[in-house]
Amino acid sequence: MFDAYGNPSGEQLDCIACGQTYERPDVTADPEGRGAVCSLCLTTDRTGLLVLPAQQAAPRPAEAH
Ligand SMILES: [Zn+2]
Repeated sequence: MFDAYGNPSGEQLDCIACGQTYERPDVTADPEGRGAVCSLCLTTDRTGLLVLPAQQAAPRPAEAH
């Protein structure tokens, strides 16, 4: 999914929700690994099934006093 320089490729992927084809930068991976979901479907998703789970915030290092 990345080009030789480590940048996201312009590869085209089909959104699993709407079936439209988008370039790689406009889609994100489905949380259950079923494929790609476009940003439009993510923002208009009413079921919440496409939304990525919240990530645990990294624990902060204890502040030195
Ligand atoms: Zn879509």
